[in-house]
Amino acid sequence: MTPQAPQSIVIVGGGTAGWMAAVAFGRLMGPAGVRVTLVESDAIATIGVGEATIPPIRTFHAMLGIDENAFLQATGGSYKLGIRFEGWSCPGESYIHPFGQIGTDVVGVPFAAQWLRAHQVGMADPLAQYSLEARAAEAGRFSRPIANGDSPLSRIGYAYHFDAGRYAAFLRTQAEQRGVVRREGTIERVETGPAGIAAVHLANGSRIDGDLFLDCSGFRALLISGALGTGWVDWSEWLPCDRAVAVATSADAAPLPMTRAIAGPAGWRWRIPLQHRTGNGHVFSSRHLSEDEATAQLLADVEGKTLGDPRIIRFATGHRERMWSGNCIALGLAAGFMEPLESTSIHLVQSGLQHLLRLLPTGKMSMPASALVDRYNRVMTAEFVRIRDFLVAHYHLNARPERFWRERAIAPIPDGLADKLALFRAGGRIFREADELFNETSWLSLLTGQNAPVEGYDPICDAVPLHVAVRRLAQIEQVVGASLNHMPPHADALSRIAARESRR
Ligand code: FAD
Repeated sequence: MTPQAPQSIVIVGGGTAGWMAAVAFGRLMGPAGVRVTLVESDAIATIGVGEATIPPIRTFHAMLGIDENAFLQATGGSYKLGIRFEGWSCPGESYIHPFGQIGTDVVGVPFAAQWLRAHQVGMADPLAQYSLEARAAEAGRFSRPIANGDSPLSRIGYAYHFDAGRYAAFLRTQAEQRGVVRREGTIERVETGPAGIAAVHLANGSRIDGDLFLDCSGFRALLISGALGTGWVDWSEWLPCDRAVAVATSADAAPLPMTRAIAGPAGWRWRIPLQHRTGNGHVFSSRHLSEDEATAQLLADVEGKTLGDPRIIRFATGHRERMWSGNCIALGLAAGFMEPLESTSIHLVQSGLQHLLRLLPTGKMSMPASALVDRYNRVMTAEFVRIRDFLVAHYHLNARPERFWRERAIAPIPDGLADKLALFRAGGRIFREADELFNETSWLSLLTGQNAPVEGYDPICDAVPLHVAVRRLAQIEQVVGASLNHMPPHADALSRIAARESRR
């Protein structure tokens, strides 16, 4: 049977996921006459965290015609060049996972391989020295990419930090301008039918029906789980943290253009600098630390004045067995969750939307609807799995002394990660499959930053004599240093945006 194109789309939930979906569908399907309705309840708060992102969000914003300056101004946002991991391999050590790409091929041989070989014999500096993003993050500098030949300035990789509440409000304005209709009310009952979901019923007695339903109702997963009973794949054996405590503090210093992830006795703390405040949180395992202890550890570490009371968030790590079931697609927390160590949740919403827009029935497709659904579920599950493996590596590769960390170091790891580590051990090789989210720079930063075992070097390096490679590495480092001098302080970049927006 040829799948029918949806004429009416209902989005359940007005958090980050719901409003991202609303802007996307409003912009891309509204012009074709598709009705888009978003239902949210003023009585049920959004999760209120989720403030650090990764570079693909810029592609998403570009696709939706979102102006970067207006967005940063509206959300109190700041730029982000990477994440500094503090105390992960052992207390006192730190490394940066920078965005972008580190170095360039050295005479046809990948930078990573040449740097590793030279570093092993003491002839290369620490990895971060070759990354413009890492050095700028530490120095508190930022510039958008500028056309400058082959310079690293022309390919700066960056993302944002923003205030989650303000982001949803900003997206709401954009969505409503594109014809999305917002309905306020609490859903009391979900009506199912042959296609899956038939309608949602609000407490005020109204009924909202549609052809396609997006479940963006957060951890409640009202439709995909509550109504359709879709199962849950539990990953707590790989990622056992199951709580977070979050609190905002005043922004007393200029925001650094990076997120900080600080390892602690049974988890880690985040610090996300915005223009008007700093977001702080502590992700931990409740088997190893009580909520009171975790809160005390967080409050002992924050800088600035706390704004409001610390808030505990309980979560489970894993994903829905089928994120698309019948005529219902779950996005955001309703689809699954992994801790925010690499800021990947909002990305997964974006990625889900992009896949969905490519796979939605058009009425002209000759394949059965089930083939589209299966493809979506396969692709999204694979994305979750790859991100999971990257996160698990942060916990596995540690030499910290506490019980939580000793357990993580010896716990079994997923096969895909075990393969990656084995390949790296045998000559420092990193193999990226075509559409993997994390590139060679990401894996190299993580594996060397957390002292993953490595024996020897990649034989491909022998194509270039060591002294030639060392000379080339020195040139790369020198170009990065010179480029850094062209980058203004991050705070200046933000003030210029504020000044420009206030003149509008
Ligand atoms: P929510 O924000 O929970 O929104 C749910 C919506 O559903 C609300 O509007 C609510 O009113 C509505 N709703 C629920 N029930 C009903 C009902 N019965 N009737 C009507 N409406 C209803 N992601 C990142 O990318 N980067 C980060 O740094 C990051 N940090 C995080 C830290 C923590 C501790 C957690 C838990 C998550 C973090 N995330 C992060 C994830 C990120 O916050 C979420 O992916 C994102 O906010 C999407 O949430 P959501 O819209 O799915 O759910």
